[in-house]
Amino acid sequence: MKVAIIGSGILGVTCAYFLNKHGIDVTVFEKECEPALGASYGNAGYLQAGVPDPWNAPGAFMMLVKALSNSLTGKGDQSAFSAPIQALPGLMAWGLKFLRHSNQQTFLNHLIKNRNLAQYTSHVMAAIDETEQLSYCQSKPGSLIIFRDQAALDSYARTADYAAGYGAQMQLLDREALLQTESSLNSATGNLVGAVYYPEDYAGNSRLFCNQMVSISRSNGVCYRFETTADRIIATNNRVKIRLKNNADVIADAVVIAAGVHSRKIAATAGIAVAVAPAKGYSISVPTQGWANPPKHIIADMAIHAGFNPLGDVLRVAGTAEFCGLNKTGISAARTQYMTQLVAENFPAFASSINPEHIDPWGGFRPLSADGLPFIGESHVRNVYLNTGHSGLGWTQGAGSAKVLADLIAGMRPEIKIGDYDAQRLV
Ligand SMILES: Cc1cc2nc3c(=O)[nH]c(=O)nc-3n(C[C@H](O)[C@H](O)[C@H](O)COP(=O)(O)OP(=O)(O)OC[C@H]3O[C@@H](n4cnc5c(N)ncnc54)[C@H](O)[C@@H]3O)c2cc1C
Repeated sequence: MKVAIIGSGILGVTCAYFLNKHGIDVTVFEKECEPALGASYGNAGYLQAGVPDPWNAPGAFMMLVKALSNSLTGKGDQSAFSAPIQALPGLMAWGLKFLRHSNQQTFLNHLIKNRNLAQYTSHVMAAIDETEQLSYCQSKPGSLIIFRDQAALDSYARTADYAAGYGAQMQLLDREALLQTESSLNSATGNLVGAVYYPEDYAGNSRLFCNQMVSISRSNGVCYRFETTADRIIATNNRVKIRLKNNADVIADAVVIAAGVHSRKIAATAGIAVAVAPAKGYSISVPTQGWANPPKHIIADMAIHAGFNPLGDVLRVAGTAEFCGLNKTGISAARTQYMTQLVAENFPAFASSINPEHIDPWGGFRPLSADGLPFIGESHVRNVYLNTGHSGLGWTQGAGSAKVLADLIAGMRPEIKIGDYDAQRLV
């Protein structure tokens, strides 16, 4: 059996690895010159195994209004959310679906489905680590979700409690316990009121992971074709034709679309609708050398919507959501400055010691699904499979999603209920 995969981000490379393990002949098509140059490059590196909450929370409408208002008042690059008005027409159909799924019941329901996949992924990642002995700055520090507002903490704690009913390990910390657990926050600005601690959460650099997985699966026989764009998918009888940008055709028994935010465009060529929209986010990586007391945990700061992850010898700071379509490339100086200011909110002394020339900024597009769940499985077009739409959880759920899909394609029974992530929903 021959399978083509479009995309070499975390979803594509892990899928290639598992299909190859099943003895399947795999070719990966990647438009860039190396793997993981899309969203899998510089994400926060946070594997949210405990409570991977979707963005479809009841307050999502207000988030979009805020995003629009930030852009209209010219504060787009200086805020957590932005949505330039010219991008809105392209987001309308997706946005209505997103809002329709942003209610408490769906949020909690999808949180648990995300958790099942994230938990499964943590087992799959542990097995990969053991078999392949990879080195990608992996660590198991647990995470702290920190708050500066008691009402927001109380409301969030109710969500965490709900997930605890499904097995999530969590601990509520008051201010004193928080500062004892994470003393690097001692000089944080504002009034930290407490946190929720998730011991199951872990960390790693997804780009390093992808690169090593590519080396391993290449030496096991997977073919990677870089600088090769898939332009069109044509389903023919029992097979699939992939037309490349250079007009060459490749025939396979099946194709997996793992093209991140570009999945929608390539799927549309085969008549498949995928409810995914781009949400641009940014990160900066700052060397921590010389910092006497760097954080020991992954920290998610709910007041400023940013994550801080001690990843190897850098602090990776990530956040922001720009609903700007796919045209906004590059990183403005204002945006890098904003990301640097976020460091000062929690670690003022360290922030003042940062040499701007040592900051490594990055921007990428999350493939945001309209209901907060990924799309995994066969589409309504025979032999065309999706593995996409993992939103802000692609690293958290990548290896597990790839394993269940590879099992399915190989005719084996996936180890978790894959119907929860049905590729044909929301069409
Ligand atoms: C700022 C930020 C922070 C994040 N933090 C986290 C986090 O802490 N934890 C977490 O779990 N997730 C996080 N995410 C989300 C996570 O990074 C993504 O969900 C994940 O990387 C998506 O992986 P992917 O393989 O689907 O897409 P990508 O990594 O984007 O890969 C898709 C690949 O397909 C290729 N491609 C596209 N079209 C074609 C074509 N036609 N032909 C050939 N190749 C094509 C692209 O070049 C790309 O290499 C974050 C995202 C951002 C932006």
